[in-house]
Amino acid sequence: MLTINDTTLRDGEQTAGVAFSDDEKLAIARALDEAGVPEMEVGIPVMGAHEVELIRAIVASVQHARTMVWARMAEADLAAALACDADLVHLAVPVSDIQLARKLGRDRDWALATIRRFVDRAADAGATVSVGFEDATRADPAFLARAVETAQAHGAVRVRIADTLGLLDPFQTHALIAGLRRETDLAIEIHAHNDLGLATANTLAALRAGATHASTTVNGLGERAGNAALEEIAMAARHLYDIECGIDTTRLPAISELVARASGRPVAPGKSIVGEAVFAHESGIHVDGLLKDRRNYEAFAPEEVGRTHRLVLGKHSGSAAVVDRYARLGIALAPDHVAPLLARIRAHAAATKREPSADDLLRFHLETCRWIPSSNA
Ligand code: MN
Repeated sequence: MLTINDTTLRDGEQTAGVAFSDDEKLAIARALDEAGVPEMEVGIPVMGAHEVELIRAIVASVQHARTMVWARMAEADLAAALACDADLVHLAVPVSDIQLARKLGRDRDWALATIRRFVDRAADAGATVSVGFEDATRADPAFLARAVETAQAHGAVRVRIADTLGLLDPFQTHALIAGLRRETDLAIEIHAHNDLGLATANTLAALRAGATHASTTVNGLGERAGNAALEEIAMAARHLYDIECGIDTTRLPAISELVARASGRPVAPGKSIVGEAVFAHESGIHVDGLLKDRRNYEAFAPEEVGRTHRLVLGKHSGSAAVVDRYARLGIALAPDHVAPLLARIRAHAAATKREPSADDLLRFHLETCRWIPSSNA
């Protein structure tokens, strides 16, 4: 069982230089909700009265997903969070010695006392409380376990283990979460960052070790190198572990585009699942294999994410792709015409670094084939 808690609207918007408009936030929430994302973190209420108003509008507009708001363990944060009527209130506190001492001028005892006080207060106010441990992966594991125990004893229904700086590898993540799993039956959310490119791998390792929830963002948006990508976690859970997250994966490319536009962060062509080029094939060996049986060269069907294969003609193309492409243009190539056309296409790609257009291909055919006697002409 895996519950995705998408935090595009909180950690995603926290990305340096990213600011969603109200309409964009509402549109992203609607898109995630309609796609079946079960939970979403929708903002930071203490940012101000306008943000509270916007969060309330998002909470009211969401039909199916549970909503969460993010707050520090501070009076103003808690008051603003409680005003939002979200399904869950997430209360965050640093637990590493370095952040406690060097950021807040506090110590471990302060952290435990603060957890007791704020979880009690939020629970007394009727909130369902998740407790977030910032910089948990640099904390003393024994102290982290005490913090988890304290949160649970005071009524938290979930803890979030944040690899705030993206420091762990999947083996370390597995060991950390498995250790906590032995200490508590509480729901555990893994919140991974991608500074070393390991956010998705670490999230999956945590799930294998007993984490029940995963923070994600669309396109992996988020602080610095971002978070684990929603599209990667949903597809990896399905294909590696047979776990369905309740998400209509055919909607992922449209959601990716929406968030790319709203964030001003275009998606790299080679980005897993949603990149423009990830279902494009050019090399002769791959295209030939793909045309014989798609399963030769596809990890999963692109139709699962509402897309199709695209065969690209270029420098590495082989005969099968040329025959296939001309057939799609309504031209059955004579066998003698394939090799000279392939040479022409490769020369075009090398000279222009572009794929030939349909017009280019028709012109090549005219220019190249009219003087070559064809065996079946
Ligand atoms: Mn984060």
